[in-house]
Amino acid sequence: MQFTDLRLSPAILKAVTAQGYDTPTPIQQQAIPAVLDHQDLLAAAQTGTGKTAGFTLPLLQNLIDSKNVVKSNNVRALVLTPTRELAAQVQESVETYGQFLDLRSAVVFGGVKINPQMLKLRRGVDILVATPGRLLDLYSQNAVTFSQLEVLVLDEADRMLDMGFIRDIQKIIRLLPKQRQNLMFSATFSDDIRELAKTIVVNPVEVSVTPKNAAAKSVTQWVIPVEKSKKPALLPSFIKSHHWRQVLVFSKTKHGANRLAKKLESSGILAAAIHGNKSQAARTRALADFKSGDVQVLVATDIAARGLDISELPHVINYDLPNVAADYVHRIGRTGRAGATGEAVSFVCDEDAELLRDVQNLIGEILERRPVAGFEPDKPLPEFALNTKPKKIKKPKKPKGDSASADPGQKPRRARNPNASASGDRSKPPSRRRTPNKSA
Ligand code: AMP
Repeated sequence: MQFTDLRLSPAILKAVTAQGYDTPTPIQQQAIPAVLDHQDLLAAAQTGTGKTAGFTLPLLQNLIDSKNVVKSNNVRALVLTPTRELAAQVQESVETYGQFLDLRSAVVFGGVKINPQMLKLRRGVDILVATPGRLLDLYSQNAVTFSQLEVLVLDEADRMLDMGFIRDIQKIIRLLPKQRQNLMFSATFSDDIRELAKTIVVNPVEVSVTPKNAAAKSVTQWVIPVEKSKKPALLPSFIKSHHWRQVLVFSKTKHGANRLAKKLESSGILAAAIHGNKSQAARTRALADFKSGDVQVLVATDIAARGLDISELPHVINYDLPNVAADYVHRIGRTGRAGATGEAVSFVCDEDAELLRDVQNLIGEILERRPVAGFEPDKPLPEFALNTKPKKIKKPKKPKGDSASADPGQKPRRARNPNASASGDRSKPPSRRRTPNKSA
């Protein structure tokens, strides 16, 4: 299948060609026709599958086809994302794919001044990309209204739930017209996600491009058993000896990320840390430097790294295994993107052995162990057989202290919008029966 088979207009195809894409990825092949047919969509797709173009291209097409003219403070398509970084990247994709179209788009997220965002919304925008908390703030200040809304996109819905945004999402949904198209994307499909989906999508076309919880096949994964005290020395030594030039390193903690970046710098490797304690400007700069190759290693916490679009990232190092096995899949989801191959290595010390077992059970695979001379653990790591019984994945706790990566307005908060009573919003279970659209 070619992009030209997909009923997209020449102006959109021109932008796709300019990006150098030859063929649509599997998610694009399945999602684009469904969205063009105005159907609801429930898609299981991780970052790296081309999902952003999968919803953006047909969304743009539908918006130009319907020819509605957006009124002041209105929005025709709303894309909700869990983090600022993802919001900024989705907006970048909207701009890129829509560069030859006469459509207006904007991105809004917390942690930056609200006034410029209010100004942008004044004329109305065809596509608004937003994190939930800031969107609700803007709504409560009458900067945005949804009476013209045609499409809702929920991106990385699983992460939204992990980060505790369910109530904000429910509030937003109650503000939207009932007649609309809904597109929902999630890397994994837990029972919670299915429950949420029931309140959002109606008779959706279901699309899945990765088997449940399976890691991208094009990523070579292995484990280095290591003595905990030797991990800091192993990191620069490993990167140098393997000549890895663009490496995303995952650390469990923000302080750990800072320490590792310093350690790498002192070993002559250009590195930057990206986490919730860094200002938005510092994080944007670190990401830009990493993408351009000025910084060789980006050390990140899970939340900060979520959804980063670093195309064809070749290497990931799990300096620490994540506490939640599903995060392992998210982490390595950023290597081997859109057909490229990648390598992901995990440093595992004795105290993380249980986490390794969880990861292996989740991905359904025993990871190869490749010890490195001089760094072996004093006590060998236990061997684990695969537990093939379906395992209930522990729900991660709502992240504390790394909230700067998310929209700070997302924390439990009182609704300032007089039209959306806080008690009413909190007590009701998700329901398709919504309160009348007060914004209309
Ligand atoms: P996403 O899953 O949306 O984060 O996209 C992952 C990466 O794949 C991005 O860097 C896109 O630029 C790239 N991409 C998207 N669609 C295609 C395509 N059809 N061919 C090649 N690369 C693509």
